[in-house]
Amino acid sequence: MPIDARYDPENVFARILRGEIPSDRVYEDADFVAFRDIQPAAPVHIVLVPRGEPPTSPAALREADAGWVGRMVLVASRIAAEQRLAGRGYRLVVNCGDDAGQTVGHLHLHILGGRPLGPVA
Ligand code: AMP
Repeated sequence: MPIDARYDPENVFARILRGEIPSDRVYEDADFVAFRDIQPAAPVHIVLVPRGEPPTSPAALREADAGWVGRMVLVASRIAAEQRLAGRGYRLVVNCGDDAGQTVGHLHLHILGGRPLGPVA
């Protein structure tokens, strides 16, 4: 999706957060929900999604977002540990715009692991 796209409240993650589309949730708290990716790219592939209407991508982040973005990385590392990935390692990915292959315009973080993941790109 284009890097400058406006937030679409009908995007798939907004619909998952509203419970309109089912998801295999592995974690939730007041700020975030995490569920298994429908097209897993690794044995463990979880998407961590902020609640509400976050920026569409990292390109739209502001200084004021630094706190919750930091917490999102912290939560992701905790989920990775819960999924028993901490010993072997894992990858956290945030896609931004078309060249990164971003398809959902609701900022999110991928947690990938469970096999050697190879080079980043
Ligand atoms: P991105 O390419 O970074 O925008 O990531 C979007 C991810 O959402 C992709 O890995 C998709 O497989 C995943 N996805 C799309 N629809 C669903 C869904 N209904 N449930 C779980 N994951 C989904």
